[in-house]
Amino acid sequence: MKYISTRGGCAAVTAPEAILKGLAPDGGLYCPEKFPTLSPDRLPAMVKMNYTQRAAEILEMFIPDLSGGSLRQAAEKAYAKFPVPVKPLDGKISLLELWHGPTCAFKDIALQILPELMSLSAKKLSDNRKFHILVATSGDTGKAALEGFRDREGFSVLVFYPQNGVSETQRLQMVTQEGGNVRVCAVNGNFDDSQTGVKAIFADDTIELNNTVLSSANSINLGRLLPQVAYYVSAYCDMLASGAIKNGQMLDITVPTGNFGNILAALYAKMIGLPIGKLICASNSNNVLADFLATGVYNRRRELRLTTSPAMDILVSSNFERALFHLSGGDAELVRDLMKNLAENGSYTAPESLKKTFDNTLTGGWCDESRVSGTIKSVWENEKYLLDPHTAVGVAVARENISENPMLVVSTASPFKFTEAVCESIGADGDTIEALGKITKITAPEPLRNLGSKAIRFTDVVEKTEMKDYMISNL
Ligand SMILES: *Cc1c(COP(=O)(O)O)cnc(C)c1O
Repeated sequence: MKYISTRGGCAAVTAPEAILKGLAPDGGLYCPEKFPTLSPDRLPAMVKMNYTQRAAEILEMFIPDLSGGSLRQAAEKAYAKFPVPVKPLDGKISLLELWHGPTCAFKDIALQILPELMSLSAKKLSDNRKFHILVATSGDTGKAALEGFRDREGFSVLVFYPQNGVSETQRLQMVTQEGGNVRVCAVNGNFDDSQTGVKAIFADDTIELNNTVLSSANSINLGRLLPQVAYYVSAYCDMLASGAIKNGQMLDITVPTGNFGNILAALYAKMIGLPIGKLICASNSNNVLADFLATGVYNRRRELRLTTSPAMDILVSSNFERALFHLSGGDAELVRDLMKNLAENGSYTAPESLKKTFDNTLTGGWCDESRVSGTIKSVWENEKYLLDPHTAVGVAVARENISENPMLVVSTASPFKFTEAVCESIGADGDTIEALGKITKITAPEPLRNLGSKAIRFTDVVEKTEMKDYMISNL
């Protein structure tokens, strides 16, 4: 099992090498050269397994270089403590709740196991350097990385977040983070400023770090992508068990999308043979992907809109490059061309044949802010189910795309992470976790309760020009 770059400019590597490298040396992203196959008779057998066993089974298919035993242990450590359930919403839609981990967003599923995968990969390659994980976050990734890597031998973490760009719950989650190897710092600027600053640090080869490598926990890392394939297989198994689907029947899936990591994992699940019908990419008002899927033109030259689903406020979805690569049949030259156009002109146009493959594989849709809010309100009133704004984008777009197949919508965050928007949508008094709990009579997830009474550990704020010096002086 080898992994090759989307830009075709470097040698194929094994999964452990790809996981430690993150980005490929030619600037591309590592992709499976050939997909493993999940035989259809494997699914009924997997129905009897728990989530940990299912995850290990999928990881073994993609990472045969690490022993099955070590992957099973890694999955056990990462997932034994939280469920990944499918919940029926109404007659047609089921929700895959991915937010029962320690930070209450779906990024936990990848970031709880990524440290294990990195440690195992380093051991396999006899690489005994230390890893300094550097993250720019718009909210959810930072906290999930802090929780995943905290107090892990051989790792330290530094998270930069935009001072005024995260929700109050997200900010409190980060500045109260516990652990001896973690640090959190606000940047005076927006998410793009933090992201640009972090990219500049990665590109700066004058930084001397002795026996330490800078590493990213960004969603372009193969070690974040592969664990996400497992929950689609697991959801199918749970729906088989509950009778919501029959073996072999097609399942339509809608994914609220930002960087295109989550939905790419669904595409990978389809490539290995999971019976997925329509795959629907749901965007918020930043509808670059919906436009591309409608017209074949990717155009980032527009204003970024700040919405109530901030994890989807993205104009360049980095994992989309992998979709271009796979759906063009591995045409690295084409991908290089398109990415060059994007970098130089802010746009590109897919050739006719590629557009056709996209039409047959992915459906796009998007949802503006008033419809997000209206969806949260009506689903609360009619189904007594509380959606977070990201999941609400998914539900709204899914409803436009109902076919004869069952529909699964991926639920990416607890509504208690975005109480300002959720309270306003359902017309609640106040905007806090307590206020939302009181009016809905739903108990907030344990990690979010009492956030306000936890000690604040991190108060540093830097200018965007000071990020590198800050990192070096705190290593
Ligand atoms: C990160 C995130 C998304 C977007 O996922 P991608 O993999 O970047 O497409 C959606 N919802 C929530 C709550 C997130 O944290």
